[in-house]
Amino acid sequence: GRVLSPKEKGGSAVSNAVTITHPERVVYPGRKIRKGDVADYYRAMARWILPEIAGRPLSLLRCPRGVGQACFFQKHHGQGLGDAVRSVPLKQKSGTEDYVFVDDVQGLLQLVQMNTLELHPWGATVQDPEHPDRLVFDLDPGEGVTWVQVKAAARDIRARLQEVGLQSFVRLSGGKGLHVVVPLQPKAGWDQAKAFCEAFAQALAQHAPDRYVATMSKARRTGVIFIDWLRNARGATSVCSWSLRARDSAGVAVPLRWEELGRIAAADAFPLDKALARARRLKRDPWEGIATLKQVLPLDL
Ligand code: ATP
Ligand code: MN
Ligand code: MN
Repeated sequence: GRVLSPKEKGGSAVSNAVTITHPERVVYPGRKIRKGDVADYYRAMARWILPEIAGRPLSLLRCPRGVGQACFFQKHHGQGLGDAVRSVPLKQKSGTEDYVFVDDVQGLLQLVQMNTLELHPWGATVQDPEHPDRLVFDLDPGEGVTWVQVKAAARDIRARLQEVGLQSFVRLSGGKGLHVVVPLQPKAGWDQAKAFCEAFAQALAQHAPDRYVATMSKARRTGVIFIDWLRNARGATSVCSWSLRARDSAGVAVPLRWEELGRIAAADAFPLDKALARARRLKRDPWEGIATLKQVLPLDL
């Protein structure tokens, strides 16, 4: 028969439009960014964000009263999230729990309607939650560490990953640090992935103890960078590329080409408006190739 237009299938802009209530409500008081601006941001950025989050269990950081007021993390599905916000049962120690995921712009905007500011996906998909396809080395600078040193650390990690056959990608956290992201074919389980990340981080810290620490108990040590490998455990998350951050600066977690890193002045160099402008200027994905790289964990370091 005749192919139905999106409109006839109920896929029109009108029937798919997500109602954003209280668009005038101030979300970032220091910057006069309102809920409507946040929704406009995520709507405009959907084509960049959806590949990062679609079909992945998500933790949401929701801030119903705006940044600076009580925000809370939510990972379980619940009432009132909207009909495009989906749920996937995942086994946990305590039994099976329903996790949130979305796979389209409606789902994304329904999360925004529920005052979600930050999106934190798993490094695995709902189809294959036991095999990570993304690892993240989260670089957390201690007091006294300069931005130049954080950038050098990211490049150092990139080089060492290359030595074991792994290409990586870099992102500003939108807060204080950088994330070095490694795409994987989903073959190894979480335990193996986590063991690799721990060993990798420990080796760096042993080699340059004046620059790095890899143990949680030393994470806040002055003058050193904590290589947070704990993001790579089952159920752990990292903020996704292009997510807003619930911080006063309204920084965005921006993915970069490695060659761009040198001229970036801070981890929160792109507040909402600058991130939008960057996305509009982009001709290609700064992480071009990440989806087609076929790499697996090395057998040993
Ligand atoms: P920064 O550069 O300022 O460190 P970040 O996003 O890397 O920004 P971290 O505090 O290092 O922030 O946390 C890393 C990740 O750990 C976060 O992106 C988030 O996904 C996860 N995380 C941190 N705290 C929580 C929490 N309370 N609940 C759930 N996930 C959390
Ligand atoms: Mn961090
Ligand atoms: Mn961290």
